[in-house]
Amino acid sequence: QLIDSAIAARQDSVTNIPPSPSIITRDYVFDYLIVGAGFSGSVIAERLASQSGKKVLVVDKRNHIGGNAYDHYDDHGVLVHRYGPHIFHTNSREVFEYLSQFTQWRSYEHRVLASVDGQLLPIPINLDTINKLYGMNLNSFQVEDFYKSLAEPREYIRTSEDVVVSKVGQELYEKFFRGYTRKQWGLDPSELDKSVIARIPTRTNRDSRYFTDTYQAMPLHGFTRMFENMLNHPNIKVMLNTDYQEIEKAIPCREMVYTGPVDEFFDYRFGKLPYRSLDFKHETHNTQVFQSAPVINYPNEHLYTRVTEFKYLTGQEHSKTSIVYEFPKAEGDPYYPVPRPENQEVYKQYKALADETAGVYFVGRLATYKYYNMDQCVAQALSVYKQIPVRA
Ligand code: FAD
Ligand code: UDP
Repeated sequence: QLIDSAIAARQDSVTNIPPSPSIITRDYVFDYLIVGAGFSGSVIAERLASQSGKKVLVVDKRNHIGGNAYDHYDDHGVLVHRYGPHIFHTNSREVFEYLSQFTQWRSYEHRVLASVDGQLLPIPINLDTINKLYGMNLNSFQVEDFYKSLAEPREYIRTSEDVVVSKVGQELYEKFFRGYTRKQWGLDPSELDKSVIARIPTRTNRDSRYFTDTYQAMPLHGFTRMFENMLNHPNIKVMLNTDYQEIEKAIPCREMVYTGPVDEFFDYRFGKLPYRSLDFKHETHNTQVFQSAPVINYPNEHLYTRVTEFKYLTGQEHSKTSIVYEFPKAEGDPYYPVPRPENQEVYKQYKALADETAGVYFVGRLATYKYYNMDQCVAQALSVYKQIPVRA
């Protein structure tokens, strides 16, 4: 840099043109440009700023921080999640302790009912689901035998259909999984990777929790407040309503962390990667309670997949209640990468390109095309941060 300055000074004296004070030619204002203020971008921004003393600019094209985990008080004063229900759960002590620096927690174990054959039944399928559905009174051992009697063993478990049918057979698959999955993904479970439905276990006991992770809790004052605390550092500046392409040339940064869709970054060079989108229909009802569970899934009826009543999740007390319906669609904001082999092949090409792109780190659900939960995004971001050779 000293040599550069000396050369520049000599050139200036030769041409006699004083350098313009308004044009930054060499010095970087920020060390890192972080594209996206969701979990992935915010964790890396926080680490770079607070642990490595780096100056960080976080940009997001939306008008808020938090990415898809953003929550806010609606017009009626009810705390809602704009992009659908977000329930925090993890087995990682590191992730939980990391986030605990920025929020207190409210203990919360999530439960879901599925509307099947005119009844509301626990999902994941458990002992009570089977007894209620078939009017039986089996115990855990008997229900295990019952599953075995229905199961259609498959040599290879490749698809989401294989996962369910090989465990509990065709009938339960049709009642609980096939319709939901076709709605949610626009694909038959036989066209989706096994990892999608493998998220939902089958149980022989009466455990009706949706998740069994060690840590299950909601940020006491909401996700957005937690993000505010993460990003509240003198080394972090946040710019909203801004696509990074609008400012990347005007505001030089040494390196970039990108958390948007990877195919968009490379101008869809290898074609578009499918991301599943959703329409959210938010409603507020003038009643204390709207439905009998935090989330009700509708595998076989309606165009929406599920209905969420937020007060169960947040613990808020309010005379009214707010809910959201989720209507899946192909186009629109990218919410879910679609796990299937042909998409993985396309992603591999983008990944190879990303690996060769010096000075840019690709992180998160959209940039690494992974169906990650929030805690997995935090874990990935912490691990990428540790790999960044932070220059003095
Ligand atoms: P995002 O949150 O998508 O953030 C990326 C950000 O980048 C966005 O804000 C976007 O605006 C911005 N961006 C993109 N391109 C640009 C650009 N060119 N310029 C500027 N900004 C840009 N996980 C759980 O653990 N539990 C749950 O219960 C749960 N429920 C979910 C329900 C739904 C309906 C959805 C869609 C997801 C759910 N998730 C849940 C997953 C969770 O949302 C993600 O794991 C996590 O929020 C992803 O964080 P991210 O930072 O990688 O991406
Ligand atoms: N699923 C289903 N029926 C259900 C619940 C889930 O078929 O009642 C399948 C469906 O394919 C869904 C996947 O399991 O997309 C994962 O469900 P999860 O609740 O984890 O989805 P997310 O909360 O990520 O939308």
